[in-house]
Amino acid sequence: MKIAILKERRDGETRVAATPETVKKLIGAGHEIHVEKGAGETASLPDDLFEAAGAKMGTLAATLKDADAIYAVRTPDDATLAKLPKGCLLVGLLEPHGDKAKAKSFADAGIDALSMEFTPRITRAQAMDALSSQSNLAGYRAVIEASQIYRRAFPMMMTAAGTVAAAKAFIMGAGVAGLQAIATARRLGAVVSATDVRPAAKEQVASLGAKFIAVEDEEFKAAETSGGYAKEMSKEYQAKQAELVASHIAKQDVVVTTALIPGRPAPKLITKAMVETMKPGSVIIDIAAAMGGNCELTKPDEIVEHKGVSIAGFTNLPGRLAADASALYARNLVNLTPLLVDDDGKLAPHWDDEVIVGMALTRDGKVVHETLK
Ligand code: NAD
Repeated sequence: MKIAILKERRDGETRVAATPETVKKLIGAGHEIHVEKGAGETASLPDDLFEAAGAKMGTLAATLKDADAIYAVRTPDDATLAKLPKGCLLVGLLEPHGDKAKAKSFADAGIDALSMEFTPRITRAQAMDALSSQSNLAGYRAVIEASQIYRRAFPMMMTAAGTVAAAKAFIMGAGVAGLQAIATARRLGAVVSATDVRPAAKEQVASLGAKFIAVEDEEFKAAETSGGYAKEMSKEYQAKQAELVASHIAKQDVVVTTALIPGRPAPKLITKAMVETMKPGSVIIDIAAAMGGNCELTKPDEIVEHKGVSIAGFTNLPGRLAADASALYARNLVNLTPLLVDDDGKLAPHWDDEVIVGMALTRDGKVVHETLK
């Protein structure tokens, strides 16, 4: 099939949905790859590398002409969507949660859309799971960003001039991003603690050498869905959790928050009052900023200073590692591709496969995802 890779047009989006490595793999599997000129520039992938890998470079119009599938990072803007060939397959991080209007617009335009966010969390789909590949990088980058903003060192240092104390880092939400944040903060020498509402997180946190802190009541024991995600916790649980967090956070230097509930606003775990108990110079990196943030004071894509505490709300941390984020995301797409074609390599999504059932938003002019009908 003919696969089109477009330049991402969303403000601040630096990633690209293919790399020379994945172009070669896709061509090797019999596909034709067209890449819009300049698509890889912000991910350190100039056009000549794509050309050398066998991609045909062209304008937006030439790239889209007769494309069977569009591989994208984010939803293309309206002007670009209007140019997609009718009947094509669009695959990307389409931010579909609860967005019935968007799903309807794909259906009305005759676009079959697959959302990478809805990749089922089953073993077979792990190599296609873009949320995991991107969250892992986000967790790493969050700690690196914290280390830049924090005006002290992370590791303990004993010098002739005296001792520099180790930073205390607290990671809230120990999923894919949180576990990587724990590992990164530990590597830098911080003393790390972490919290989560899923019991499974306890052992994982401990195995990385961090201290686990949580309200471990009956609700906690049942907080994980069959899909591996957290449930939204009750008001009572949230109140108990807030009490625990309040006493712990006052002693922390660096806090990384990653707590998310799929399709829901991010739980508010850090209040303004809690921030005010933190020492001047402390840093909060809120990975959940794009979903409203885990801290009351978070502003998307801003670093807010409140009484000496910096609260950073980066909404696209993987985009700050565009080369690696693109490489992993593009491999997720390569791993998905066999489920999109027939034995002759022609576009024929396996609509009955549970992976495609999970990801499909629209098909043949209709919204098919149960949550978006
Ligand atoms: P996520 O991004 O949806 O949420 C991040 C973390 O925040 C989660 O660990 C969640 O439990 C936590 N959280 C939610 N509400 C909270 C609250 N009020 N207080 C504290 N923490 C809160 O989660 P994720 O990173 O996508 O991963 C969730 C789980 O799924 C992990 O156990 C991960 O290992 C698992 N997973 C499985 C597969 C697979 O089997 N294919 C793939 C990826 C992830």
